[in-house]
Amino acid sequence: MQQVAAGVTQLQIQRFVNLYFVETTTRGEWVLVDTGLPGHAKDIIAAANQLFYVGTTPVAILLTHGHMDHAGNAQELSEHWNVPVYAHRLELTFLTGKAVYPPADPTVGGSLGFASRFFPPQSFNLSRVQALPEGAEVPYLPGWQMIHVPGHAPGQVALFRTEDKTLLGADAFATACHDSIPSLMLQLPKISRAGTPFNYDWEATHASVVELANLEPNAIGCGHGPVITGPEAAAGLTRLARNFPVPAQGRYVAQPARTDADGVQFVPPEVPDTLPRSLAVVGIGAAVIGLAALLTSQRRTRRATRYVPGPRYNADLDEGYYSGYGTGSRQTHSGSHGHRVVTGPGPSRPDWRRGGVGS
Ligand SMILES: [Zn+2]
Ligand SMILES: [Zn+2]
Repeated sequence: MQQVAAGVTQLQIQRFVNLYFVETTTRGEWVLVDTGLPGHAKDIIAAANQLFYVGTTPVAILLTHGHMDHAGNAQELSEHWNVPVYAHRLELTFLTGKAVYPPADPTVGGSLGFASRFFPPQSFNLSRVQALPEGAEVPYLPGWQMIHVPGHAPGQVALFRTEDKTLLGADAFATACHDSIPSLMLQLPKISRAGTPFNYDWEATHASVVELANLEPNAIGCGHGPVITGPEAAAGLTRLARNFPVPAQGRYVAQPARTDADGVQFVPPEVPDTLPRSLAVVGIGAAVIGLAALLTSQRRTRRATRYVPGPRYNADLDEGYYSGYGTGSRQTHSGSHGHRVVTGPGPSRPDWRRGGVGS
């Protein structure tokens, strides 16, 4: 666990996902901000017991947004502690099993874009979730402001404590580079854009970063990456805001998905995903190389049999040849996911349940 600022502690889960214990102004009271990937409720309870006292309970759970790595243990923890869960009203439809997020866009590139093709589907139905109040007020945390920062998730919120300029930035940006999985896993500190395949609105994502940079934070804790404090916090965020790297290509680059309280109302058409073609080329290439190697090997064997007494026909080699060729030629990939609500012109596929796993 690492302290972000007075009364604000970061817990990292699996070196990738962060959540925060935020103390209220009442002694012994605290709020859990985000809940990590599913399957870690016991770790979070143990960390809270260690940080406060054995048997401690928060007054509430607050979700910055509903992606799987932030809402993963919300149901289990809210039942265990018997506390409410709060999220922005625009996230409720995704947290109660009524809608799914816009489909992830693997065509934006980068390691996370590649990995997003394989993320499992997300489906939460939280029984205790309720809407955060309208405006900037944060339940139980009077010194904090809530800032709506859409673009990555429609109802994503960041939290800012004005007194000491502490910022919990959610996935509006990250404090480790999301475009490189090694950087993310090594937790190298760098204020960067976050969760590119899940950013359904790049203009809003940039505007959210600008809004948070204008706060000039002294300490930053995000959904992903290490704590950053001191002058680099504001400087790094200002750099990101001024030179925000909108991807050169991607489904949501030219136009965003549109969402409302009922879910997703529009998604732009998919853009061609070149990965399946690349994999096919790699597969064919591997098959040709394998075939050439086997033919060369077979010719050597046959040449050898001309001079050395023994079997003239090598059945094992032929079997290897056919199975090797078959494996290579079957390398294909299913690609990204379609959408079934409303799409713009262009091809779409019927099932987009994998969309919105999030980061
Ligand atoms: Zn995340
Ligand atoms: Zn996210």
